[in-house]
Amino acid sequence: MKNMRYGYRLICVMLVLLLCLSGCKVPASSGETTQEQTGPIFGDDSKENEETTASGTEIVTTEDPTEESTEESTEDPFTPVNDTVYSLASLNVRAEPSTDGEIIGALKVGEAAARTGIGDEWMRIDYFGHVAYVYGEYVSETKPAEPETQVPPTAVEGTGILYDNGGYLVAIDPGHQGKANSDKEPVGPGATELKAKVSSGTQGVVTGIPEHELNLVVSLYLRDELLARGYSVLMIRETKDVNISNAERAQLANKYKADAFVRVHANSHSNTAAKGALTMCMTSHNPYNGNLYAPSRVLSQLVLQGICDATGAAKKEIIETDTMSGINWCEIPVTIVEMGFMSNAEEDRELAKDSYRRAMAKGIADGLDKYFDR
Ligand SMILES: [Zn+2]
Repeated sequence: MKNMRYGYRLICVMLVLLLCLSGCKVPASSGETTQEQTGPIFGDDSKENEETTASGTEIVTTEDPTEESTEESTEDPFTPVNDTVYSLASLNVRAEPSTDGEIIGALKVGEAAARTGIGDEWMRIDYFGHVAYVYGEYVSETKPAEPETQVPPTAVEGTGILYDNGGYLVAIDPGHQGKANSDKEPVGPGATELKAKVSSGTQGVVTGIPEHELNLVVSLYLRDELLARGYSVLMIRETKDVNISNAERAQLANKYKADAFVRVHANSHSNTAAKGALTMCMTSHNPYNGNLYAPSRVLSQLVLQGICDATGAAKKEIIETDTMSGINWCEIPVTIVEMGFMSNAEEDRELAKDSYRRAMAKGIADGLDKYFDR
């Protein structure tokens, strides 16, 4: 009996030793020692298994230094390099090549990092003198393109208000603004000829109403009319307190890929008898966007007709011109609406009436309906 018990103990000890060396996960049915060392890894409950898998893995790796050190000395999983990578996202920098690795920093989008090793999934980098790792999918050897610095409009406060409901997108530019900006800008992309960024516009000869104010009121009515008809709308401005040039207004409409751009203005002439509505577009030879002449001409035609039908205004003409920055910078069909002459007493009084302004907005919307064949 004594011998048998001794033998049994020996077998137990050997089993434990074997378990420790191999790191095998065998149910610890024999002996309390094994149970203590491996911990509650092998519960029957599947939930308990899930909870303990992580610590079990750690025990295996830490208790087997032989295997670990062999791996390190014979095979570095990272191919050594010495170059630069750029982050394509806000990217965590970790102390180990694993999502469990401690986060020791972060790379901003486009930020450069000195790469020291290429792994299967992870890249090794030098991070302020520390060996660190980032996930390889989110870095690139080529520097990502700079964000659109050419188009500043998003930075202009109070501009570019989007009402997106999935319909055709009409950009509405209520011409001018509270304060003129006489700084110069090119009249078109790449042009050497310069023009004032934005003027303050005209004003009513009788009413004294500033043009930027009239333009905004009609534009807001037009916005509501278009939204009611199922269009999406991009408002270049909804207040007079902006500072956005004519070129920037066009670029803003371009940026949102508007289907049509309507620039709302009122006219003025030294001949106070001049009256009536007109629209404008580029010529077919416009060096910047002559390719947009055909749709812009049709748009101008239909909107002018819509206005005259809705308001009874005299139909003057469609002017084709390549002198307008706000047209030349367009990459989308565009029309300038000159609703009437504020220099004409009769028309100035009409334009001051709320009913006339609403009719004007409805007329522009009717023209857009025809343009989009709705
Ligand atoms: Zn104007």
